[in-house]
Amino acid sequence: MKANEALKLVNSSVRELKAYHLVPRPADIKLNQNENPHDWPDHIKKKVADFCLSRPWNRYPEFIPTQLKEALAQYAGTSSSNIIVGNGSNEVLLVLLLSLGKSDRPVVICEPTFTVYSLLVNGLGGSVHRIPLRNDLSYDVESIARAVKENPGSILIVASPNNPTGSSLSEDDLRRILEVHTGFLILDQAYVEFGGFNAVKMVNEFSNLVVTRTFSKALGGAGLRLGYMIGDEEIISEVNKVKLPYNINIFSDYVAQVLLEDRTEIDRRIDELRRRSRELADILVKFPFERQYTSDANFVLVRTAHKQELFDFLIDRTILVRDVSGYPMLENCLRISAGSENEQFELRKTLQEFFAGLPK
Ligand code: PMP
Repeated sequence: MKANEALKLVNSSVRELKAYHLVPRPADIKLNQNENPHDWPDHIKKKVADFCLSRPWNRYPEFIPTQLKEALAQYAGTSSSNIIVGNGSNEVLLVLLLSLGKSDRPVVICEPTFTVYSLLVNGLGGSVHRIPLRNDLSYDVESIARAVKENPGSILIVASPNNPTGSSLSEDDLRRILEVHTGFLILDQAYVEFGGFNAVKMVNEFSNLVVTRTFSKALGGAGLRLGYMIGDEEIISEVNKVKLPYNINIFSDYVAQVLLEDRTEIDRRIDELRRRSRELADILVKFPFERQYTSDANFVLVRTAHKQELFDFLIDRTILVRDVSGYPMLENCLRISAGSENEQFELRKTLQEFFAGLPK
């Protein structure tokens, strides 16, 4: 069969998708993916290297990553029977949509938000019902409640804090939604260590709530590809049936356990990044951006008529930020992640140069 014939056999819902990608660009100061700017120290890596030497690579991992689940349960304040671990929270989202979604069950999302939601739903042949954020990019709780009432049994996916806006839902907001929602709510809390209401405790009260979290942001483990979901025990057992067996490799499993061992160090690192996030907002507010949005996460969204010039100016000085101007409502917006102390010093200096060079 020729390629053009085979292509016709690919699901039309997939062929119609625009690929999600990030143009790789070299940068000394990488403020474009909301990662933790600090790597883990060598003594931790050495421990992992010793483990890698000692383990057979020809054997499968444990069927259930029991110790990792225990460690995560303790970290997140839940029980291991409420947890499924996945290859990044992206995989966890896919598993949730595979097990909870149906082609006649719309998925309600608020936009602008993380693009992977609509990508997965469309790729699986489902339909997306979009609710815009308010003009200040906060969540429009009234409209969300109305949409889920009008679409009984729908799946609602909300990121809180949201990417790329930094907006989040309060406990009251969540309660208002959950009181009227008759389907599942997938609450993506990839950034919850930085701010916003932590909804883990609510899964005991609302069985239709599933919270997703990740190692990629506050925990400084984006390279591990580890995410997890927390939900009602019975729902978790059902969803677990479609999770691929052995989805966590032995190395990531072990690294994650080592990272979670020292809670004081984790808390210290998170505190540091929370401070840097506040500092970033304070730095940016001193510059004449058209608008800067309040953020509960480790990044800040700014709007400027000079978006392209600024993006290019930063790139020339090897500072990479994220151009999010293609998202709905985000014309002329850049998203800037919090960096290390030095990186933010460089950013401030470069912004000073840029704005000083603009015609008055
Ligand atoms: N959810 C949100 C809101 C995100 O911003 C991201 C990553 N940018 C993810 C999920 C995916 O994270 P992971 O690395 O765990 O797949």
